[in-house]
Amino acid sequence: MNNSIPTSVADTPQRIAGLYQRLTDAWVRAERDYDTWFAEDFDEGDADDWRSAGFTASEAAAWVGADATYGASSNSARITMASAWVVAGFSPEAASAWDDLLAHHDAAERPILAREWASSGFSLDTARAWIEREDVTTAVILENNGWKPWQRDMLDVLLGLPGTDDQQRLEHIACGFAPGNVLDYVRAGVDIREFGWWERLRRQGEDVDSLLSAMEGEREWSYDIAFRLDWILDSAAGSPTAPHLRRPSILGKPDPYAFHHEYHYAELSELPGPKLIETWRENGGVPVRWGIAEWSDGGCPEDYAYEPRFDWTDEQEQRVREALEASYGDEETSVVFGWPPEGSLWTEGHAWSSEAEGCGEHEEFRATCEACRPASAHEVEMAEWHWYVDVDLITHLEDEERDELMDHVHLLTSSIDPRCVEYSEVALR
Ligand SMILES: [Zn+2]
Repeated sequence: MNNSIPTSVADTPQRIAGLYQRLTDAWVRAERDYDTWFAEDFDEGDADDWRSAGFTASEAAAWVGADATYGASSNSARITMASAWVVAGFSPEAASAWDDLLAHHDAAERPILAREWASSGFSLDTARAWIEREDVTTAVILENNGWKPWQRDMLDVLLGLPGTDDQQRLEHIACGFAPGNVLDYVRAGVDIREFGWWERLRRQGEDVDSLLSAMEGEREWSYDIAFRLDWILDSAAGSPTAPHLRRPSILGKPDPYAFHHEYHYAELSELPGPKLIETWRENGGVPVRWGIAEWSDGGCPEDYAYEPRFDWTDEQEQRVREALEASYGDEETSVVFGWPPEGSLWTEGHAWSSEAEGCGEHEEFRATCEACRPASAHEVEMAEWHWYVDVDLITHLEDEERDELMDHVHLLTSSIDPRCVEYSEVALR
């Protein structure tokens, strides 16, 4: 018997760990002994079947316990499956992992598909990114051209779901330009035949991003596509420096500066409302955004809302003075009022939409599946700030001066999208 260890790896046949035993007389005798098989819970008939297919008792037990043969309805079907995986070159553990990845294919096809993926250089981890939606040929092209799964998803959404023209898709994937650039072009509506021209502009140092962004700005995405692009961007790393990384504008993210003002004095109806100087977040604060709505410790939204920082102007003060004097003042009575007005969140408003939903096949929403349903657009009931001034009416009588306080005067109502109201984590009032 030659027990020498091979010195050259190249001389060593590739073996799958655990599948082969060194043949010795004792080992062969043990494997032929039914007791060995009974110990692994096989009856005589099953043991004969496995043995005649070339499996030892421990190998057979490993395959019976492997997920890769879980779907077999009989012992002979299980032996057929196990044999297929062995021929394809997989151990029970590896077979089970690949079987799981390939669950969307017929069980009978999985061993040969796994072999194709493995022999094309994919590990379980690298295959996982593509295997659900790509055949191995396309996956190789995607990998070789530097595509990431989310970029592929975005391309699919942009080229149109679900009837994506395979040929057109493949041409885009394999055109040889950086995936990010390809997506920039497709989002802007550039034809693939013009990609080269745009690449040349890039090389010449032109501000291609601005040109492409302007072109995309003229396109009108449907809400459905915009939602899917936005969803995909959630899994894309990085800040939106390239046009394809920008959020679609159609989704109407609320503008914290878009206050609608209404004065409560007819004299002020033409007066422009105050402008927001900056949000609390822009000022370095860390406000809790709308949606938290945690008024659990007995507070109410008004107590937690940061008052918007408005730029109250001298002109506004003068016009308010005139309006108040017209309402309250007369020859004996002058009007004194506090300035600037104080804000109070009168109503927190409400914005709601349905959640994105998966379909019969997907538990969670998939941006690339037409049957999966995007969240609905938001319906909004505006939040309202009421602005008050304290007004003192000072009436001059003959010998004495009388000072009469009037309560809060509601001067102005400012409406804003409730998602723009900024709340403190602790009560402010
Ligand atoms: Zn789906």
